[in-house]
Amino acid sequence: MKYTEGPEIRDTKAPEGPIEERWEKRKFGAKLVNPANKRKLNVIVVGTGLAGGSAAATLGELGYNVKSFCYQDSPRRAHSIAAQGGINAAKNYRGDGDSIYRLFYDTVKGGDFRARESNVYRLAQVSVNIIDQAVAQGVPFAREYGGLLDTRSFGGAQVSRTFYARGQTGQQLLLGAYQALERQVAAGTVEMHTRHEMLDLIISDGRARGVIVRDMVTGEIERHLADAVVLATGGYGNVFFLSTNAKGCNTTAIWRAHERGAYFANPCYTQIHPTCIPVSGEYQSKLTLMSESLRNDGRVWVPLLKNDERAPGDIPEAERDYYLERIYPSFGNLVPRDIASRAAKNVCDEGRGVGPGGLGVYLDFRDAINRLGRDAVEKKYGNLFEMYERITGENPYDVPMRIYPAVHYTMGGLWVDYDLQSTIPGLFVIGEANFSDHGANRLGASALMQGLADGYFVLPTTIGDYLANGPYGDVDEEAVAEAEIQVRNKIDRLLAVNGTRTPDSFHRELGKLMWDYCGMERTEESLRKALERIPELREEFWQNVKVSGTAEELNQVLEKAGRVADFFDLAELMCLDALVRTESCGGHFRAESQDADGEALRDDENFAHVSAWEHSPEGPVLHKEALEYEYVKMTQRSYK
Ligand SMILES: Cc1cc2nc3c(=O)[nH]c(=O)nc-3n(C[C@H](O)[C@H](O)[C@H](O)COP(=O)(O)OP(=O)(O)OC[C@H]3O[C@@H](n4cnc5c(N)ncnc54)[C@H](O)[C@@H]3O)c2cc1C
Repeated sequence: MKYTEGPEIRDTKAPEGPIEERWEKRKFGAKLVNPANKRKLNVIVVGTGLAGGSAAATLGELGYNVKSFCYQDSPRRAHSIAAQGGINAAKNYRGDGDSIYRLFYDTVKGGDFRARESNVYRLAQVSVNIIDQAVAQGVPFAREYGGLLDTRSFGGAQVSRTFYARGQTGQQLLLGAYQALERQVAAGTVEMHTRHEMLDLIISDGRARGVIVRDMVTGEIERHLADAVVLATGGYGNVFFLSTNAKGCNTTAIWRAHERGAYFANPCYTQIHPTCIPVSGEYQSKLTLMSESLRNDGRVWVPLLKNDERAPGDIPEAERDYYLERIYPSFGNLVPRDIASRAAKNVCDEGRGVGPGGLGVYLDFRDAINRLGRDAVEKKYGNLFEMYERITGENPYDVPMRIYPAVHYTMGGLWVDYDLQSTIPGLFVIGEANFSDHGANRLGASALMQGLADGYFVLPTTIGDYLANGPYGDVDEEAVAEAEIQVRNKIDRLLAVNGTRTPDSFHRELGKLMWDYCGMERTEESLRKALERIPELREEFWQNVKVSGTAEELNQVLEKAGRVADFFDLAELMCLDALVRTESCGGHFRAESQDADGEALRDDENFAHVSAWEHSPEGPVLHKEALEYEYVKMTQRSYK
């Protein structure tokens, strides 16, 4: 795939000056919209997960006219509901040395020095407000005996800053955001459109002015116009087919915005989570996460001997290798995800993996149960243990869990500036859909923090600065008609192929290819292979996909086909991005770039930048945004 390099870009919105004052400065500098004028301004928010739900509720509360869209039958079914382990915040309730600066530092370091300092510092500052907001909404965070909110530890940190509600933190937080959203729906400030899928972005006079959506029940194509559009459409990990994401997660909204001009940043940065239930067979279509919180008390190990087929209980202590504790004594089982995942892969590659195919390691609670008692362990992790037992048929109170890394989160996404505005004026992108805060590796419990920071606190301020110059007047009818025709043509084209293979079978093949060639480890050779094979498979897709049914009805095969078509294009850009970035950093591990201990070896001289890709018919154009570090010194990460 050919690409060219375009001019460098910069984030012009982040204020200068001491880092702790930048957000205050931006808030003060942002134009305000007076309450009477807010009623005249329309905002579309696509997505009702933690990012979109909190944003739509807050914008409604502020007095804007909001239209909210999601493809599920209820806003409350957004994928955020699946989040298990917790949400970070620098409250320092435990007095264990946490601070805004430490959360900032841990996040920049955890992201392997590939995130912007200004954004991350703001995230750490805002984190404390999120907890207050959620508590005020009635989110039932776990509490200690004395009544204070409880916390636990997550990877990449030596303090306990993760707030949680058993293993259902996302669900409880989403119910909070959903209540706030429904309140605005009842108040008439938010108009809710469930079971509507956004299929294109309307650009008029260079600005994002609306969306084309398909009513997924009737098949009707609708146009919705506004003064600004917010995408909160989640991550694209399902490009790998098998991932911990909900089956519906896809890239369509951001990909089509990319095709309309929004730059796509760091598409290759994918997070592989170390603790998932291993793949069990060829026909599996979904993977299940076992929350990182389990690494607070579970110990990860494999047998010392290769191909050891003894039951775990028969392997004596001296013949077990607690390899994370051995290699990383300071952080032990709580090293960041990218490091824990690679370590698991390494021991399995050595032939010391456990379970079918040797693709598993143990996560063992024996010592925690002995130390704390079974009841205490059940209180903390009961629902996760139950889920594990239902899926595997094994009881983790009696035998160690078997886990293996799996695709979980995408740090890449649409490029946004400090205001969370994309390269298309009026198009804002929040939550997992943007690239903003996690660099090359996201720390556990930081996605919920970012989504809610964006939705409750950052976007409602920064979008005001844009809307203050509105309303933006009439939308060019030709632009709307053109977007609508594009959508109809794509649907007609998919239906017309009438081939023999299901969209799912193409997706499965694409996903395997991505996992094998652009997964936990990437090489120049594997990426070149992927870049050769993806266009061939895409060609076959457009020649041979079978979409049954019609466009004028509920048609899940059609929905799927459209999403798979976009995954093909995205997959190609991901592989290109991974090929061009010849260094290793965080979750992006290029086998050619590792140190003597097999750790990711960055190349700061050539790659301390964000790679922002512009779509163009002649092939992608790469724009680099230099990353500068004033407050954290770039070093080789060490968790030893
Ligand atoms: C199993 C699991 C557990 C996790 N646990 C944690 C955790 O403990 N802590 C943590 O910090 N993070 C966790 N994460 C990550 C975190 O859950 C997600 O990153 C986060 O919830 C994403 O929120 P979001 O609002 O950006 O997107 P989502 O919650 O994915 O919401 C996307 C929304 O966009 C809508 N949408 C998408 N495309 C379209 C379209 N074309 N048209 C219309 N609507 C569209 C969807 O309907 C949905 O409403 C976990 C992730 C997984 C997979």
